[in-house]
Amino acid sequence: MAELIDGRAVAEKVYAELRQEIADLKGRGVTPGLAVVLVGDDPASRAYVRSKDKMCRDLGLHSVKLELPATTTQEDLLAHVAELNRDAAVHGILVQSPPPKQIDEGAIVRALDPAKDVDGFHPGNVAKLAFGDVSGFVPCTPLGCQRLLIECGVEIAGSHVVVLGRSMIVGKPLAMLLMQKANGANATVTVVHSRSRHLPEITRSADIIVAAIGQAHFVQAEHVRSGAIVIDVGINRVDDPTAARGYRLVGDVAFDKVARKAAAITPVPGGVGPMTIAMLMANTIKACRQLSLSL
Ligand code: NDP
Repeated sequence: MAELIDGRAVAEKVYAELRQEIADLKGRGVTPGLAVVLVGDDPASRAYVRSKDKMCRDLGLHSVKLELPATTTQEDLLAHVAELNRDAAVHGILVQSPPPKQIDEGAIVRALDPAKDVDGFHPGNVAKLAFGDVSGFVPCTPLGCQRLLIECGVEIAGSHVVVLGRSMIVGKPLAMLLMQKANGANATVTVVHSRSRHLPEITRSADIIVAAIGQAHFVQAEHVRSGAIVIDVGINRVDDPTAARGYRLVGDVAFDKVARKAAAITPVPGGVGPMTIAMLMANTIKACRQLSLSL
């Protein structure tokens, strides 16, 4: 049976480190601040925003939670972003995705001050990741996956990592991150997607599989070689009449079957999810340090 990679425990380790950094910053008169902007009332987005706000407060950060109506115009949202860009007490800004239809998400991301773009979606930060410039911000979920691997002592350098999914939020930045010429990277990376041929053969050649496709239980035992490391990014709702809400959350990996073959595997929930929010907090502290240049 595979070893369980406990994302909650690793996230707690990250928070312990961050608490020290925050205390140090506060000792120098700076309180790191994060602003989270939510447009509309999508229940999942609202829940994410609530947990980010709660984590900020737990850590003693300055937290700004801006909840705007679903009818907010592009112009209004741009004005809010401009104000947060100017606000010296705010070091990180995040606009919760997905926004309502009238909002051009790309334009909002481009309007963020890249130095406060703690989600790492601004083209300036995407370019910095491609160039290997460590002053940039890397999207939180890929960063969390990398940190999980490092903390679990997985040898990334020289390993064949197969990433399933090529989104700008997970797959692409993760591939760029793990192929970098840097500590915790130097992997040989293959990215597969919905048009890939011979997908099971490719994933079977992986030392490390990262599944980020949004398809419940897609990765089966036949996709995995014995002894592989499996990181499951997926969060999918499946009907479950026995659950109080009528559904439960599962990953992109058929956990029970794959766990019998893999050397180590992340659960869903409790794997990558807690790391994503921990990395958001880490990026906010980094933004604060970089914006307060002398610190
Ligand atoms: P997207 O829908 O943006 O991208 C999905 C990717 O998977 C696409 O590249 C798509 O290929 C590929 N894909 C879809 N179906 C298949 C298939 N059958 N075979 C091969 N490739 C396929 O999703 P995200 O990257 O935003 O999210 C992926 C999953 O991760 C979701 O379940 C999401 O909820 C979860 N997630 C979890 C986070 C966390 O904190 N744990 C954070 C972010 C996301 P193509 O490009 O060809 O369409």
